[in-house]
Amino acid sequence: MKLIKVKGIVIREVAYKDNDKIITILTDTLGKVSAIAKGAKKTNSPFLASSQYLVYSEFVLYQNTGYYYLNSTSVINTFYNLRIDFDKLQIVFNMTKLLNSVTDENQDCDKILKLFLNTIYVLDKYNKNPKLVVNAFKIKLFTYLGFAPREDKCSNCSKSLLDCSDEHIYYDYISNTFLCEECKNTVDSKKRIQISKATYNAIIFVIRSDLKKIFSFELKDYMDFEAFGQVFADSMMCGL
Ligand SMILES: [Zn+2]
Repeated sequence: MKLIKVKGIVIREVAYKDNDKIITILTDTLGKVSAIAKGAKKTNSPFLASSQYLVYSEFVLYQNTGYYYLNSTSVINTFYNLRIDFDKLQIVFNMTKLLNSVTDENQDCDKILKLFLNTIYVLDKYNKNPKLVVNAFKIKLFTYLGFAPREDKCSNCSKSLLDCSDEHIYYDYISNTFLCEECKNTVDSKKRIQISKATYNAIIFVIRSDLKKIFSFELKDYMDFEAFGQVFADSMMCGL
């Protein structure tokens, strides 16, 4: 029996038979995998903690008749503060739903795992605005998946948007590009959203910066950033 050691976080758990669970783990080397945790529902199970939603562990797995099974586990982080904060837990639940739909079984997702762990670590430990955190997560997630918007120039007149003095920038979610103030009417107003220049700068910062730094910006007002994150993620999901 070949044993495979991975690190990963449980992003879904479902009851299976009387005492077992099937857990979906986002792993560092195997991508997203489903594994059967035998006896995990029993109170004396060695898998009791590690088979729970949102617990990050080292897993030793083996394969049998096409399924992964847990052999042994060792908990690394339970993200305890998140578990007792209903609002944050709701945000994380939506994030794992999104992760489940954009990742495939056995597809390499080490970068996505690191992004998710980093994001929930920040939510767990720091008092950062969760709206900032979750929308930065969405922008970086779709950047990693290859869907970053064409960023630094107006898609109509090619003016540099980072250096311009426009008060607002317009995101055209059909073509996943940005427009300057002057060119906004080249796209139907129902097919674009208006964001502040500060929000635009924050979006570009998240797309370009190293994973460790993506939450290190501040905005006076998160409304536009939140609206962009929502529209961007929704339209990318439609294209997947
Ligand atoms: Zn323009």
